[in-house]
Amino acid sequence: MSQADEAKVIADAFIERNLEAIALLNDSIFYFGELGMQEYRTSELMSDLLKESGFQVELGIGGFPTAFVATYGSGSPVIGIHTEYDANPDNSQVAGVLDQRCITEGAPGHCEGHNSNGAVLVASALAVKAAMEAKGLTGTVKVIGAPAEEQLLSRPYLVRDGYFDGMDVCFAPHVGSEFAAGHGIMQSALISATFSFHGESAHAGVAPWKGRDALDAVVLMDVGMAEYREHMVPGTQCQRVITNGGAQPNVIPKLASVWWYFRASSAAGAMSVFERARKVAEGAALMTDTTCEVNILSAVWPVRSNEVLSALTEREFARVGMPVWSQEEQDLALALQRKVKVKETGLSTTYRISRGPSQQKPSANDAGDVSWRVPMAKVYFPSNVPNISYHHWAAGVALATSIAHKGIAAGSKVVAGAILECLCSSAHVTAAKEGFVRELDGVVYQSMLPVSQKPPVELNRSTMDKFRDAMSLHYLKARPRFC
Ligand SMILES: [Zn+2]
Repeated sequence: MSQADEAKVIADAFIERNLEAIALLNDSIFYFGELGMQEYRTSELMSDLLKESGFQVELGIGGFPTAFVATYGSGSPVIGIHTEYDANPDNSQVAGVLDQRCITEGAPGHCEGHNSNGAVLVASALAVKAAMEAKGLTGTVKVIGAPAEEQLLSRPYLVRDGYFDGMDVCFAPHVGSEFAAGHGIMQSALISATFSFHGESAHAGVAPWKGRDALDAVVLMDVGMAEYREHMVPGTQCQRVITNGGAQPNVIPKLASVWWYFRASSAAGAMSVFERARKVAEGAALMTDTTCEVNILSAVWPVRSNEVLSALTEREFARVGMPVWSQEEQDLALALQRKVKVKETGLSTTYRISRGPSQQKPSANDAGDVSWRVPMAKVYFPSNVPNISYHHWAAGVALATSIAHKGIAAGSKVVAGAILECLCSSAHVTAAKEGFVRELDGVVYQSMLPVSQKPPVELNRSTMDKFRDAMSLHYLKARPRFC
């Protein structure tokens, strides 16, 4: 048996004897149901568990109170694991039932599975540490907790501010319905920006000529963007919501705002759509004699996965295998698929091995920036039901059940296994880094965030404050204990 294989036996045994704690961590985060930037209980529990197990923890990094870095070991190689653990608004869903039922009426909740991401992050890190200790392995494991993925927020800041510097390779686990890694450019670049127009209010009936209508500017920007859409490069998209359109019709709005997402296959592409939108906004301001204030909330590069690390991870899929689902679990999945009228395939029993580069999706993830700085594999693990779209109540049903629990146990073994391979053989790390240089093909990463941009720490606070007391009635009493 190779050193890596021996280390994996220890990591697997760690996971097997801590199944209860891992499941409890998953469920605790599920019931916290905390929105992006407000993951206070979640990040505290996760970072405390890592600290108690001997990781050196810094909670509240880079201006994000709910981000953390937890480090174990020393020297090279430096291997990272990072993921998100935020919930979504109005996604409160009782687990294990076949209809839409809120845990807390109108509250946020997990209907994708970022709670399972958090469980895999902690469990795989602890399993690696157990194996490192037992086998005397050298190297550094760096666990980064990344808040507010749903707003595509934290990782571009954390990359900009140096938290991924010196990392050799990294892994980004994410919930899915099967094991999959893929390689090449997998997701899209996205710039999220608000455009606020400032005018002058007046009585809309009595003296409209005295007003300068900020809402008119929002509408005109919309018209301009609608015309521009015809000329956009295929694959480029933009979407918007009007977040402030005034208060009542007889008051000319002095402030109106619109929030835009600009998506493209490359960072440069997203930037050029954004620059064009900025001109359209300037035109709208000119036409209405208002002023426009632009705020870039986030700007992410497309997620890319390193071929060497993906192949390494896929070998772990084969080693660990898909969870063995019980008839009861399959029945729940089938009934849920029937209920929401999607293909009734039940739970997946196979893992996916990539044949050639992945197809780029229009979705975005804030891990994108990391993947252009450090060779990274995005690792999907099977903790949810196939064919069901996320952020819908049905995607919350499995997340605090044995389906999610089995998926996170298997996912943690895979992530730990891939990390142990890298710790035991520097050849993997060297190959990943060499491949990475070729994959970048001369593109030099540069953060798209303005240098002075600060994290929006107040984001989602009022929503969370409104629901927290009612939600806390459902928090789990028990605390995970690892041994
Ligand atoms: Zn996600």
